[in-house]
Amino acid sequence: MKILIMNCGSSSLKYQLLDMEDGKVLAKGLAERIGINDSLLTHQVNGKEKVKIQKGMKNHKEAIQIVLEALVDKEIGVLKDMSEINAVGHRVVHGGECFTDSVLIDEDVIKKLEECIDLAPLHNPANIEGIKACQQIMPNVPMVAVFDTAFHQTMPDYAYIYPIPYEYYEKYRIRRYGFHGTSHKYVSLRAAEILNKPIESLKIITCHLGNGSSITAVKEGKSIDTSMGFTPLEGLAMGTRSGNIDPSIITFLMEKEKITAEEVINILNKKSGVYGISGISNDFRDIQAAAFEQGNKRAMLALKVFAYIAKKTIGSYVAAMGGVDVIVFTAGVGENSSEMREFILDGLEYLGFNLDKEKNKVRGKEEIISTEDSKVKVMVIPTNEEYMIAKDTEKIVKGLKK
Ligand code: ADP
Repeated sequence: MKILIMNCGSSSLKYQLLDMEDGKVLAKGLAERIGINDSLLTHQVNGKEKVKIQKGMKNHKEAIQIVLEALVDKEIGVLKDMSEINAVGHRVVHGGECFTDSVLIDEDVIKKLEECIDLAPLHNPANIEGIKACQQIMPNVPMVAVFDTAFHQTMPDYAYIYPIPYEYYEKYRIRRYGFHGTSHKYVSLRAAEILNKPIESLKIITCHLGNGSSITAVKEGKSIDTSMGFTPLEGLAMGTRSGNIDPSIITFLMEKEKITAEEVINILNKKSGVYGISGISNDFRDIQAAAFEQGNKRAMLALKVFAYIAKKTIGSYVAAMGGVDVIVFTAGVGENSSEMREFILDGLEYLGFNLDKEKNKVRGKEEIISTEDSKVKVMVIPTNEEYMIAKDTEKIVKGLKK
């Protein structure tokens, strides 16, 4: 079965074509500046050079058409015909409370997705546009929606209800939803597989640390709490996002700086986090270089704040689960930065592990980085959201044929 994975942003579209026989990526790419001038497609077939194609893409439909042309092209393609695509898996950011798992897309699903636009005004409209465009171009191909929020729908009410008047939950569905669910699900399943233990027997803390970061408590294979909330602004300090702050800071800043609530939220989303503290960059490589090589104090402070909040979150999830068996690091920072892993884990050894400093040098590869005699296993597992989306899509589409 060949599955096309689509991840549509407002002006971009990432795709991967996977062969589910062996899980291999046949081709992947990115269409950028959709609906703006100078649209560009970067397309790469496995084992070959990247190809750049400059072609006008007025909307997602035109972009998808160009992607499909590239996939079936005699020279730069991998398919003889579009009909070789058996299914399409769409990444959708927000499934609200409607979707607790991936679903086959039909009219009713699209209607429910449209109802969720309020909850993710920046992301869901692009996701819906991508789905509709694919349906128009490939009307007979089954499509599946895989949600960033679905994995967290198992949280108990006392973990997702905010201590504000209950009527706001009833009226507006204000609650913790959590994000990065596909990644947390993938790495927790993979951790159980690597350790050769049933996931139902494990308490796992998954740390997805990238530009956006979140930590999840996975008990018996289910998300029981996660650090992102109503929006992806809550929780940890991130590249440019503040994560948790005292909400009163918002009105205080509005008054002092004579700015609107929207402007403050923009500052908390785009100018805060390790970028805001360091004043240098949102890229951890730049901040680490400034802190460790140039002795920049604010860069070091940014790293310490980031690590301290992550450490406290891990501690709180040990409390929530009544223990921990496995701690997993994933995403850009989690997979690559041995320094940040060490910062975060330093002082947590009492949980039942020691860090193997040699093994912790690993970058972007699966590795158990705790010493062999450690009761609690600490692991690095590169995330693979596309593979997880393809697996869910395959499962649902295979079910149709029975
Ligand atoms: P997202 O998908 O949220 O944009 P990623 O998971 O790709 O983010 O992570 C991007 C982050 O990973 C960047 O901020 C970058 O600094 C960080 N990163 C990548 N490689 C390294 C590295 N070798 N050391 C430290 N940080 C790294």
